[in-house]
Amino acid sequence: MDVFPLRRDKLLTHFREDGLDAFLVTQPINVTYLTGFTGEASTLLVTPNKALLISDGRFLTQLEEECPGLPLHIRPPAQTLLEATCEVLGKMPDLQTVGFEAGHLTVAEFEALKSQTTKALKPGANRIEAFRAIKDAGELATIRQSISVAEGAFANFRKRLHPEASEKELADLLEMELRRRGARWSAFTPIVAVGARSALPHAPATNKKVADEALVLVDWGADFAGYKSDLTRVLFPRPDVPAKIREIYDVVLRAQQAAIAQLRPGAVAHDIDQAARSVIADAGFGEFFNHSVGHGFGLQIHETPLMKQNSKIVLQAGMVVTVEPGIYLPGQGGVRIEDDVLITPDGAQVLTSVARQFDEMFEGNSA
Ligand code: ZN
Ligand code: ZN
Repeated sequence: MDVFPLRRDKLLTHFREDGLDAFLVTQPINVTYLTGFTGEASTLLVTPNKALLISDGRFLTQLEEECPGLPLHIRPPAQTLLEATCEVLGKMPDLQTVGFEAGHLTVAEFEALKSQTTKALKPGANRIEAFRAIKDAGELATIRQSISVAEGAFANFRKRLHPEASEKELADLLEMELRRRGARWSAFTPIVAVGARSALPHAPATNKKVADEALVLVDWGADFAGYKSDLTRVLFPRPDVPAKIREIYDVVLRAQQAAIAQLRPGAVAHDIDQAARSVIADAGFGEFFNHSVGHGFGLQIHETPLMKQNSKIVLQAGMVVTVEPGIYLPGQGGVRIEDDVLITPDGAQVLTSVARQFDEMFEGNSA
């Protein structure tokens, strides 16, 4: 069954509550979610009678392949997408109040829209993002494949870790391994951080070599058929891991498991963050855990629910989140362990299966 019309119907059920006659979807990922179209520069107008995709001639073939039967308005090259959108709206006198995605329209675009239409424009309430947070069976199957691709790539990556390899070479290798297994591309630029550079939570890969450094942090994921995966592991190329690194590894793993143990429908995102944060604080490293514990992912790498301090989002079955506490000691090194977890009706299921115990992370010539 085609899920896209059902998703659009679901959006319609909120029109009365939101006081809308129509909704303009301008965020490309949300257009994808509601139509299956993966191109860009296109706006979806959802009305009670029909959905209309406003696009241009570059995408005609792709549109026929990806969303056959969806009504289209193809703008001429001389017209901007915004002008075409206003022209379409002008031909629909029954629509008075049109919702728009306030988080995805620039001020300039909004001003232009306002000046070219007589419709009342109303900022929307992140409905589509809320729908996207709960994955259906098809999405979950694709996410599982995305994780499988990422894990397969990592297995080969581990075999290729050697002292002469640089962060950049290793990141490129990971990217290639992901694509060879069917990924469209990486979910994000892979992080491969050697030695003390692992203390930078988002370290860009450099020409620094593994050499005789004690640890390598790898944060990677696949984009498989549009759906992301997101993992982090720390590998030890030498048998003599510094005591401090060993200590923080154990604390981070305990913090992660404490957070995962709290995941279930009805749990509040803040409490998941706190579960990890208190383990790290109790061990004396509270100031070195400088990001939130995890995030939802799917069509985008960061989605609702963000699991951070003060977040009152209530977790629901069907949400998929990362759990990724870390401790970063400047000048020494950092440890983050990140897994992907599905919230199930009665708890949670860890979807990732790559080894994470300290003893399993030794690698390279000397291991
Ligand atoms: Zn990650
Ligand atoms: Zn992440």
